[in-house]
Order: sequence, then C-alpha cells, then structure tokens
Amino acid sequence: MTNSNGLAGAPRSRVRRALVVGGGVAGPTLALFLRRLGVATTVLEARTSERGDVGAFLGLAPNGLQVLAELGLAGAIAARGAACQGMRFENARGRCIGVIDHRDHVQRYGAQMMMIRRAALHTALIEAAAGRAAECRFGARVVALDERPGEVVARLDSGEELAADVLFGCDGVRSQVRALTLPDAPAPAYTGLCDVGGFARCPQAPLEPGWTVMTFGRRAFFGAFAAPGGEVWWFHNNGARAAMQAPDPEQRRASILALHRDDSPWIADVVRATPTLLGPWALHDIMTMPRWHAGRVCLLGDAAHATSPSAGQGASLALEDALVLSRCLRDADAPQEAFARFEAERRGRVEAIVRQARKNGDGKAPAGPVAAWFRDRMLPLFLRLGAKAQAEAFAHRIEWAAPGA
Ligand SMILES: Cc1cc2nc3c(=O)[nH]c(=O)nc-3n(C[C@H](O)[C@H](O)[C@H](O)COP(=O)(O)OP(=O)(O)OC[C@H]3O[C@@H](n4cnc5c(N)ncnc54)[C@H](O)[C@@H]3O)c2cc1C
Repeated sequence: MTNSNGLAGAPRSRVRRALVVGGGVAGPTLALFLRRLGVATTVLEARTSERGDVGAFLGLAPNGLQVLAELGLAGAIAARGAACQGMRFENARGRCIGVIDHRDHVQRYGAQMMMIRRAALHTALIEAAAGRAAECRFGARVVALDERPGEVVARLDSGEELAADVLFGCDGVRSQVRALTLPDAPAPAYTGLCDVGGFARCPQAPLEPGWTVMTFGRRAFFGAFAAPGGEVWWFHNNGARAAMQAPDPEQRRASILALHRDDSPWIADVVRATPTLLGPWALHDIMTMPRWHAGRVCLLGDAAHATSPSAGQGASLALEDALVLSRCLRDADAPQEAFARFEAERRGRVEAIVRQARKNGDGKAPAGPVAAWFRDRMLPLFLRLGAKAQAEAFAHRIEWAAPGA
C-alpha cells in the first residue's frame, strides 16, 4: 500500500495539514504515519528538548514493537533498548513465588519485549519523524484551540497561532487538548499508587542480566531490571503519596528506604546507589471516556485512555493507536468519519487493558501476613490465569495494508 518513497498517496479523508500536540510516544509515531500519507505534519511539544524531563524507562511489548517494525524502526529501538527475558516475582524475603518467561516471544509474537529509557525512545521517534519531514517544535505548549470554517487553530503559550485541517491530542494523561475539546470528560482517576524510579550501578544486587525482579515488599512494591551494561533500572510503587511528594529528594529516599527496611537488603543498596531519584509520579488512569473526538480534533494514547503502568501496555497502545488512526484517515471519506471508525475499532481493546492494569496495580498493595501467605501460594495460579490476557495483548497485529475499519 506504499510506493517506493514510502508514501501511500493522499488520504481519502482529504486531510492535507495536521497538528499533533505532544511529542511523547503517540505524537511522533502518528506524525510518521501521517507523513506516509503525504500529510504536512507539525508536532508541538511543550518540553524544551526531546530529552527534557521525560521520566525513567518503560517496557515495549511485542504488539507495540510490531508498529515500530512497520515504520522500519525496529533496529533503531533495539539498538537503544535491551531485550527483557522475563520477570521473576519475589516475596519480601527474596523467595521466588512466580515467573513469567519472555524467551519464546520472538517465536510466538515476532518480537521480544524490550526495556528502553524513555529519553532514548523519544529521541528515536522524534529523529525518525524529523527525518521524514515532519516539523517537530519544542517549547511549543498548546494553550487554546479554536475551530473556524474548514480548519482548527491552536494557540501556543507564546501567543503564536497555527492552523490545520485536523488536530490530534497526543498530550498524555493530563491532556490540555482533552480539557479544551471535551470539557465534560471525566478527570483521570488516582490509582492509589505513586511511582519513583532511577538508574543505579549496584554490582552486589543479585540480578540476572536481561531479567526483571518484581518484589512484593512488606510495605511497598519494587521492580528492578538488570540492563546488559551493568545498570539497574528500577521503580518503586507505594501508596504514601504525601511522603513521595516531599520537596527534598533525600527525604523521599529516606521514605523509600524506610518502606523497604524489612525486605531483601539489595533493594536498599540499589536505592542508596542511585545518584538521582526520578519522579514521583502519582499514577492515574481513565477507565472510559464517552467520546474521543469532537469536530476536527481527535485524542489518542493516554489523552484518550490513560493506562497505569501495571500492565506494561500504555506505550504500546499509543503506538497501535497511531497506526489505526492513520489507516482510518487514509480510507475514510472525511476526518470525522475516520475519528469515529478509529474510536469504534480501539475502544474495546484499550478499555479492557486499562481495567487489567488497574487490577494488577491493586495487587501491589501491601498485604498482611495471612494475605501474603495466600498470595505467595496463589501467585503461580494467578499468573497462569493472566497469561491468556497477556498473550492476547501481545499477539495483537495491525496490518497497515488492511482497510481502515
Ligand atoms: C512511571 C510510569 C511508568 C510507565 N511504564 C510503562 C511501561 O513500562 N510500559 C508501557 O507501555 N507504558 C508505561 N507507562 C505508560 C506510558 O508511559 C504511557 O501510556 C505512554 O507514554 C502514553 O504515550 P502518549 O504519547 O499518549 O503520552 P506521553 O508519552 O505522556 O506524551 C505526552 C506528551 O505531550 C506533551 N504535552 C503535554 N501537554 C502539552 C501541551 N499542552 N502542548 C504540547 N505538548 C504537551 C508532554 O510533554 C509529553 O511529551 C508508564 C507510565 C508511567 C507514569
């Protein structure tokens, strides 16, 4: 469905100019697909550079990686990330209570789960979008929108105005585009968990390269991925929101250490060895929204269906959205029809995953001794029951050549 330049020809929806608000995951990916359709595309990103304050790291699942492969980016992402062989679950004493093995991913799903620093992912996507002549502007925060006959106009905080045929809200969980376009949309809900993370060198941590260890600590949850270069990429989840928001990072570190004081000692070693704590992020999600679009504006990624990290799917869903929406724009007769088809095709899948992520997150809450005893024995069963949903999420394939719904 593409010619030798990688262009698919003008979209039936007659979209010629697009504004993409947000240069995170969904935004530059959408820009890449829109460029394939020959749409003049500008990405507007509030951060002042592609590396600025983006967070720690994330997992890209096989279903998200197939979208990147469709864009010819599998190699660039693999070069910047690290394959994840699987996850070991441990209790507070360090006893292994369950395993999810990812080593057959290539055979089963065509791609292996990857871990990647968020800044590296953003850089790869933005460079690729710029390389295909999408204009990527940093320090460009959208503060107002206006629909005029035949176009939509975005106003930046600098006062500058830009017009296009359509505008896409890829501006994340706290989407300004959502607030401006769908003012009655529900506010994102707090999941009850805060996230803090970091990168450390901690050779004494008993971690196997390429594996993630997830620990149900006595008072908080801790995840650590052993990256191949010897670094530990870690996150910590707890419900102590106020303590995590203490302005002094050393106070936050002390709170994290206190929460893990009775867990495997290497956890405290990793936290102590971390030069800079990243976060905190109070984790929010959006279970459902009545609509994802209005007029010439459509939302995708976290702006439409914010997903807490506990299913490891938010970024992959954002990548899938970009492909599906572009395909709908390619094949529908008008933008509004494309937006409606996009929402209809995506809603069921993403809402099921948002619910699953919330459930997984609830399971991270500290358990009393009796509940912990049961959890330790029941976890292998829960993992087996969850494996079917995970396989469905990972095996999802979206073909660019297929009709846009
Ligand atoms: C701590 C944490 C860990 C996570 N771990 C994982 C994981 O392992 N796997 C996974 O799949 N998902 C994970 N997620 C979820 C994942 O990060 C999101 O689902 C994903 O980033 C959504 O992509 P997006 O492009 O929709 O939004 P984002 O990546 O949030 O990008 C939104 C962009 O819009 C910009 N922006 C915001 N407002 C404006 C404005 N007014 N004007 C211009 N630009 C604006 C922001 O600066 C940002 O760059 C995690 C989330 C968190 C918080």
